[in-house]
Amino acid sequence: MKKVIILRYSEIWLKGKNRGFFERALETNLARALKPFSCELVKQSGRYAVRDFDEEQIEEIIDKLKKVFGIHSLSVALETDSDMDSIEEAAVLLCRQTGTFKVEAHRGDKKYPLTSPEISRMLGGRLLARFHELKVDVHEPSFSVRVDIRENGKALVFCEFIPAANGMPVGTAGKGLLLLSGGIDSPVAGYMMAKRGMKVDCLHFHSYPYTNMQAKEKVVELANILAEYSCGTHLYTVSVTHIQEAIHEHCKPELMITLLRRFMYRIAERHALRIGGQCLITGESLGQVASQTIEGMTSSNSVVEKLPVLRPLVGFDKNEIIDRSIKMGAYETSILPFEDCCTVFLPDFPAIRPKLEQILEEESKLDVEGLIAEAFTTVEKIKI
Ligand code: ATP
Ligand code: MG
Repeated sequence: MKKVIILRYSEIWLKGKNRGFFERALETNLARALKPFSCELVKQSGRYAVRDFDEEQIEEIIDKLKKVFGIHSLSVALETDSDMDSIEEAAVLLCRQTGTFKVEAHRGDKKYPLTSPEISRMLGGRLLARFHELKVDVHEPSFSVRVDIRENGKALVFCEFIPAANGMPVGTAGKGLLLLSGGIDSPVAGYMMAKRGMKVDCLHFHSYPYTNMQAKEKVVELANILAEYSCGTHLYTVSVTHIQEAIHEHCKPELMITLLRRFMYRIAERHALRIGGQCLITGESLGQVASQTIEGMTSSNSVVEKLPVLRPLVGFDKNEIIDRSIKMGAYETSILPFEDCCTVFLPDFPAIRPKLEQILEEESKLDVEGLIAEAFTTVEKIKI
């Protein structure tokens, strides 16, 4: 008897003629997740199975598989010979000894001598005879024993369903450029877009030397965490120190954040177009801070000319974002105290509803194109 991990698709089963496209992407991503392990990935009747792995590594393998978008759930099954004695032996190892249960059988092999209801009844009877505190409840059982008779003379027996990441396979929905800060929100925003199948590259703005190396390491770590879900990523960093200095010198302090954001968005759009990105992604959530009012978003959005700006967290509460951050494993890193952009220049009272005319007036005091060109001389690419 040996262990096999069964993987079930999430939404892909809704797809029609282009299902192959989604399956191929999923297979590539699964192969990537399984690369560190010696094992085999096989496709069997509308799902996948991972076989022939070192059973001591099963927890590690499951952890990896749970991060692959496009998988709805996993089960660890025991593979046995398909005679009833062997099936019973496997079921006894897996099933609970008390509570209500039912047996659900499925025959891939239609030549198997028993029908599915017969298998269910027979195995149910044998389990009842073994465990006297079990009871059958076919409507609302506390657990189910599933038996899958395969065409190769083997049967798969399993009880548990382990929830997986759901979503769509990364690589099936284009590529976006995530504005990745060192905070809680933007890594979650990247996760949400990867969940819908988008490849995500990251762009981080820093104010070195006002911000330190630890701040950079923190962002690299966040990109690493995101990369586990997004099937890798590239992290680009750009300095905005000179832009903050110029704004500080020439413009009204309460507009510092608004003006800086407009530079960030302009640089991000141009960079995205250079690397084949099809949208910008940010971690903004409506009303969370002064720059994320609808007026603030309008102001930053209005400098983006060609690409959509996707804000997957726009309707989320902070608590909801934190929950997801914890789930994806980013929270502990996100709350490390290092600042991403310079706080030296930040005003005590940022403008909450900045007026566009006022912003344009302040901006006209700056050499916008020159500052952007200078920023592009500082681009660094970090492979994650
Ligand atoms: P986060 O938790 O993602 O830092 P936040 O609540 O701190 O978000 P802001 O600082 O207003 O919000 O930033 C809003 C969004 O702008 C961020 O989610 C991110 O997408 C982008 N952003 C902010 N700072 C940076 C930065 N230094 N580099 C890249 N993107 C940034
Ligand atoms: Mg932030």
